Amino acid sequence: MPTIFARIIRGELPSDMVYQDELVTAFRDINPIAPVHILIVPNKHIPTVNDLTEEDEQVMGRMLLVAKKLAAAEGIAESGYRLMVNCNRDGGQEVFHVHMHLMGGRPLGPMLLRR
Ligand code: AMP
Repeated sequence: MPTIFARIIRGELPSDMVYQDELVTAFRDINPIAPVHILIVPNKHIPTVNDLTEEDEQVMGRMLLVAKKLAAAEGIAESGYRLMVNCNRDGGQEVFHVHMHLMGGRPLGPMLLRR
C-alpha cells in the first residue's frame, strides 16, 4: 500500500521539501525531535529494509550521499548528527515506506536508553 510519503513525493500533500532528484526526496519531519530532523526517502515505494533487493543499492547509496550534503547545508556536519532507519515493530517503524532520519543540531545522547 502506498503511504503518506508517496503522496508527499508526488507533491499531492504539502511538505517542507528540502531536496528531490530522480531517486530520492527529502523533507522536514512534521514532528521534529531535534533542531534538524529531515526524512530522506526513496521515490520508489519500498515498505521496509526487509524488502530491499540488490536493485536498490543505488537508491540506498544516494540516500546516504544526500544525507551528507543536507547535513553540510544545515550546518551540522562538523557538530555531528545521527542517521537512523527503523524497521518493523521492534524498530519503531510507523510509516511503511523506507526512510532515513537525519537528526542533529543538539547533542543527541546515547543511541538507545539502557533498560
Ligand atoms: P518512523 O517511526 O521511523 O516510521 O518515522 C516516521 C516519521 O514520519 C515520524 O518521525 C513522523 O513524525 C514523520 N511523519 C509522519 N507524517 C509526516 C508528514 N506528513 N510529513 C513529515 N513527516 C511525517
